This record gives sequence, structure tokens and C-alpha cells, in this order.
Amino acid sequence: MKYTRLMAALGAATLVTTMAACGSSEKTTEKEAGSGNNSGALIGITMPTKSSERWIHDGDNLKTQLEGLGYKVDLQYAENDIPTQTQQLDSQITKGAKLLIIASIDGTALSTQLDNAKAANIPVIAYDRLIRDNANVDYYTTFDNFKVGVQQATSLLTGLGVLKADGSKGDAKGPFNVELFAGSPDDNNATFFFNGAKSILDPYIKDGTLVVKSGQTDFKTVATLRWDPETAQKRMENILTSTYKGSVKVNGVLSPYDGISIGILSALKSGGYGTDGKYPIVTGQDAELASVKSIIKGEQYSTIYKDTRQLAKVTGEMADAILKGQTPQTNNTTDYDNGKKVVPAQLLQSVVVDKDNYQKEIVDSGYYTVDQLK
Ligand code: BGC
Repeated sequence: MKYTRLMAALGAATLVTTMAACGSSEKTTEKEAGSGNNSGALIGITMPTKSSERWIHDGDNLKTQLEGLGYKVDLQYAENDIPTQTQQLDSQITKGAKLLIIASIDGTALSTQLDNAKAANIPVIAYDRLIRDNANVDYYTTFDNFKVGVQQATSLLTGLGVLKADGSKGDAKGPFNVELFAGSPDDNNATFFFNGAKSILDPYIKDGTLVVKSGQTDFKTVATLRWDPETAQKRMENILTSTYKGSVKVNGVLSPYDGISIGILSALKSGGYGTDGKYPIVTGQDAELASVKSIIKGEQYSTIYKDTRQLAKVTGEMADAILKGQTPQTNNTTDYDNGKKVVPAQLLQSVVVDKDNYQKEIVDSGYYTVDQLK
């Protein structure tokens, strides 16, 4: 039996009674006891913020999925405030949650809550963002985060014409002026996205095809605390003022998230870009409604579509398996070292979306309706 902590959670008395009643093998007895004990159990879900649409979709989808499986759900949002999130977790533990699904704000700030969860034998699934520096994270569900960064950088190069859509060499030679943005430094994903993007961009920076004119290339300098659009907008404004004078123009911006892309585009518009209907190539992530509309209008160039319906589905199935005493499915047991252990993960795949394929990927798949995109 792999999930020993869960079995402990069932309580010795229950196990003895169930085993006596069944009189069958330990494995079967444990499974039946697990499912019996936890059916209808309370599951705590904590999400970072409602200020970004994706987390609203994630929360709603997860709740529906788990309630459909007969569980009770406590779903909380913390508006990017770390103490609010820790209080929400404390309260879920006190209320007797049997499993926690956590999309953290700061991946290093939840150790007390994870220790308390372990003491109460409550398994923890890190949702989308890895929780770091504590061994009490049982599983992780997310997208292939390094690949998301690779996709963002590849799309930037495609937009500039350095690559063709099929990945082969394009006609444009550059040099192109680009600027780099990364996500929140306390979110483990931000490093994965940035490293993935840099793995593609670095050779082009080295051979002079791309020039980061501001000179700002290291993660700490280009990171955006809490993924905040205004912080990104101000940084872009400062870069435009300090670096892009006269006829020197920025041609592309690596943006890790749609909210940040919107901030960057506002700065570009105030800086005089787009008056001819043409914008620098700006990437993104999450296929948020405003950004898909911006792509259709020809402002933002691309986004990375992560189907949160699928993430909720695999996470719901994982939670259900754990609560039934089964070993949930994972497909990566090497890449997500949280500083204390390598957390077994279930990774999904993301898709680059631009003007050419949004209809197929976003509309035909039912993610948004045509009306929503008007
Ligand atoms: C998520 C991204 C999202 C970002 C900002 C990351 O942890 O993986 O999908 O764009 O947070 O909310």
C-alpha cells in the first residue's frame, strides 16, 4: 500500500472493524475502508486570486467535478494575500477537510500549514504551482511548465519571422530589439517558464539576431512580483523611456502571462506604438478573454492555451483516487524537486494560440463561445 499516511488517517478502530467484517486480504479491506470512510468527505480548495480569470475557471471546474463525485467542497480565494491564504488553510484543517488542493500564492510560505496537515493525516495536492521547501506535498498536477516557456519563445520568433510556423528557419534575419518579462519570483512556475523560454532565445541573443537593448536579461531583474499587470506596465514604460529613443524601436516582448501582456501593450500604446495598427510581437499565457480578443484585433500576438477544464478533471480524479486509498496516476517523477523531495506530478500539455488557430483551439473546443469573443 503506497499511501500509508492516508491509511493512518482512516483510524485504527475503523480498520479493525472493517477488516473483521470483510475477512479478506488487507489490500481489499483497506480500499473498501478508504472509500467508505471518505465518501462525501470535505475537500479544501485554495486558489490565489480572482483578479485573473483562469483561477476562477480552475476553482469552478474543480468544485463541480468534486461535487459530482459526491464530495463536499470548501473553495477559497485569497486575493494574492499570503496571510489570507494561510488562514484559509488553517480553517479548512480545523473544519476536518480530508484532502487539500492548493494553488499557492507564495510557494514557500505554507510550511506550517503543510506540517499541520501531515499531523492530521490530510493529503495535499499542489495545484498548478509547486509548493516548495516542505516534504508534505503528496502530488502535483500542472502543465509542462518548461515547455510553456519554450512555446512562448518559439512564438515570439515566429511572430518576428525568424522561424516559420512549422518551426523551420524563416526569412527574417534581424537584428530585432526584444525585451524580456518573467512572472512572480515566489511562484516556482515562473522560473520554469523563463528557463524554457531562454533555452530557445539564448542562441539567437548570442548570434545577434535578437538584441535585448535594455540589457535586462537575468530572472531577478525581469521578474514581476505577483504577476501584477501594473508593475509590468511601469517597467515597460521605464524601458521605453530609457532605451527606445527616436527611431530605435522595440520589435518584440516576451511576456509570460496575459495580464502582463495587457500591461505591456498599454505601455506600448502610450509610447506611440500601434498608431499604424502594427504592434511589436507580444506573447502571453492563459488564453484570458481580453487577450484572445486582443489577438483577434491584431494587438497581442499569441497566448498559451492551458485547458483548465482538463487540469480540474485530472486533479479531481487524483483526489478521488487518494481518498479511495488508491495510487493516483502520475506521468513525471523526475522534474519537480521542491527542495525537500521530488513531487510525483501529472503534467498536461499546452497549445500556442494565435490569430490563425484560435477558432479551432479555443472556440471549436468550447472554451469560449463566438459571442464571448465579440
Ligand atoms: C500559472 C500561469 C498563470 C500565472 C499567473 C502561474 O502559476 O501557471 O498559468 O499565468 O500563474 O496567474
